[in-house]
Amino acid sequence: MEKVYLTRKFFSSTSVQQETNYSINFAKILIMKFGTKAIHAGVQPDSATGAIMTPIYQTSTYVQEGVGNHKGYEYSRTLNPTRHALEKNLAAIENGKYGACFGSGLAAIDCVIKMLNPGDEVISTNDLYGGSYRIFKTIFEKYGIKFHFVNMQNPSEVDALLNEKTKLIWVETPTNPMMNIVDIKAMSNLAKKIGAMLAVDNTFATPYLQTPLDLGADIVMHSATKYLGGHSDIVMGALVTSNDNIAKEMYRIQNSSGAVCGPMDSFLVLRGIKTLHLRMQRHSENGALVANFLKSHSKIDKVYWPGFETHPNHEVAKAQMKDFGGMISFTLKGNKLEDALEIVKKVELFALAESLGGVESLIGHPATMTHASIPKEVREQSGVVDSLIRLSVGIEDAEDLINDLEEALGKL
Ligand SMILES: *Cc1c(COP(=O)(O)O)cnc(C)c1O
Repeated sequence: MEKVYLTRKFFSSTSVQQETNYSINFAKILIMKFGTKAIHAGVQPDSATGAIMTPIYQTSTYVQEGVGNHKGYEYSRTLNPTRHALEKNLAAIENGKYGACFGSGLAAIDCVIKMLNPGDEVISTNDLYGGSYRIFKTIFEKYGIKFHFVNMQNPSEVDALLNEKTKLIWVETPTNPMMNIVDIKAMSNLAKKIGAMLAVDNTFATPYLQTPLDLGADIVMHSATKYLGGHSDIVMGALVTSNDNIAKEMYRIQNSSGAVCGPMDSFLVLRGIKTLHLRMQRHSENGALVANFLKSHSKIDKVYWPGFETHPNHEVAKAQMKDFGGMISFTLKGNKLEDALEIVKKVELFALAESLGGVESLIGHPATMTHASIPKEVREQSGVVDSLIRLSVGIEDAEDLINDLEEALGKL
């Protein structure tokens, strides 16, 4: 197999991939299993020192031997070796060819929408990350891009909106915070029908649980702030694609708009990804235990978690995901705002915070936190009611997490 995903041929006449004597055969890495790829892809011992860990190349520029005679790196906005290693690694674990990292998940989304032109239309999931909704509506709508928000669990709603102006279908699955599942293959078929791009926000699932490019997506987007980094210590975004033309645009915009991440953050996410498979296994195990506990509790009304057989799209989840992850939302009987606020205050192990995907468990109240920027009528339509609580189940011992929830619920 061609190792195109390892090079950045659009920017440099010389290959930036300086393979050393130590380097693993990259064609082999492509066929390796997930954990092996997570640890080895894109990474090689430092050719100058043999350092096994990718150095943090804290540099803005690179000395050239003569004009145009360089080692593939000219200026760190365009390309930095630490970021480059991460971009190659991410491409490999998403089964794609090209990766690009950004200063945040929203900067990655910004790059995707900048591929469009005034007059273009986007069809998006209606139940999506609040910040994604905000950038679509308050930043890009004024440049003449039109956004439609639909319930994608019903593909016919998307089909009905398709027209020659539709240039992008934007999917989040599982959705935030309702844990709805969108059938990526079905969306890919619809996008292909009219030649639109399909982008999937894969933040919740991570490539360990789901690889959208294999299901027909053109672009995968990540808030690496979450599970990829995994330790709540950075903010970063990423895109992966296998499409040469999309990659060209992606790198052009990344370099032209300049919303890149720094080398230190790149190092931390590279390190995070080395344990992604182990963490996701534990998040999923703990998620199942906590979801089942909540389901059996008398004060809980609904529990949203795609692992339940009663989840409306459980079959799709089973088909496109390896496991169901540690993100769970639930509502309280009576649907009282005060009760929800009481629970998030009373828990001790679950920290009250925005964000998700770290090793530690977090609890959040979407209506007043992550989704506060979405009008009440709009959020309630998608199920974000006043008593909805969202958990990011960490990788602590499940028994302690369940005891914590049980105590807080007991005080209601
Ligand atoms: C956090 C998040 C984003 C935005 O990413 P940032 O890194 O915070 O900019 C986008 N989509 C989803 C699903 C998220 O959870």
